Amino acid sequence: MTAPETTPIIAASLNPAQQQVLDLLGAPPEARPTFSPTLRDTLLADIDDGLRELLDELDPADPLFASKHALSTVHSCEARHVAERDIPFEWSVPLARGTVAHKAIELSIHWRGRPDPLQLVDESLARLAEGTDGLGDWLAGCSEVDRAEVRALANERVATFLECFPPIRAAWIPVTEGRLRAEVLGGRVVFSGRTDLALGRPEGSTARKVVIDLKTGGFSAAHLDDLRFYALIETLRLGTPPRLLASYYLDAGRAQPEAVTEGLLRAAAARAVDGVRALHELSVGTRAPVARAGVSCRWCPALASCQVGQVHLGRSEDTSPFDAD
Ligand code: SF4
Repeated sequence: MTAPETTPIIAASLNPAQQQVLDLLGAPPEARPTFSPTLRDTLLADIDDGLRELLDELDPADPLFASKHALSTVHSCEARHVAERDIPFEWSVPLARGTVAHKAIELSIHWRGRPDPLQLVDESLARLAEGTDGLGDWLAGCSEVDRAEVRALANERVATFLECFPPIRAAWIPVTEGRLRAEVLGGRVVFSGRTDLALGRPEGSTARKVVIDLKTGGFSAAHLDDLRFYALIETLRLGTPPRLLASYYLDAGRAQPEAVTEGLLRAAAARAVDGVRALHELSVGTRAPVARAGVSCRWCPALASCQVGQVHLGRSEDTSPFDAD
């Protein structure tokens, strides 16, 4: 990417967490990989081949949308995926918090001077209140307590971001909430996603872009899969993959970086093919959903009727560190 390589920030003005991010973002020319110009066509051919049995079952006029979230849930527990799929979407404090914070972070990147987190959050709330995606209506109708909670939680997230990240310069080509989309199987399947933050852009077949997902809470292997899926969509769009993927854990001030390789992209393509098949079969009812217990059982909407989840949680809660075995 351009900026950390050509427009150094005065290191003394950065705290160690910000310096770590800056070190992560920058890459000397020899560390920027070059990929085959045919990689996109190869990946697309592999995906189309893996999905060819769906050719006659799907219609480009009514494509199957495979989002990051859909693939993640169907790969973790098919029964939970089906249960969540049937629940109508509703805005809530946690969902509004994330959207308000992301909008405020977007504003911070383009703000002149040193922005104040709460000012950014209030501007974000004002902008989103004018939107037509349902959040504006929710903000207009929510209780004062809910609004205050959204404001407080978003402020915490934005303040943490500004503490952990160096000032982001326009020359780094920052894009927040960037929408990604790639069509496969002749438009019958659409891969979609939205990156929290992307910096840089490819130069020919040389990878330079860094894709960052901002996370609260701790590490999960699913976070790696999410970013690998974004790297796959980027490659199908542009032909040149990102150079680096990073989940950034705001609470801990730590990044989990992963370099993009051809092997990583092929694995992401295979996972996407398996996920699309499962999504389609669950959608048309030719596959019985498999319940796979895990940490998400605790907040799963199907828990009350799912024996697998109840047994799992019962076992987990019965396990004592003082058990003999
Ligand atoms: S309770 Fe657990 S196993 Fe059951 S559907 Fe939910 S996530 Fe899956």
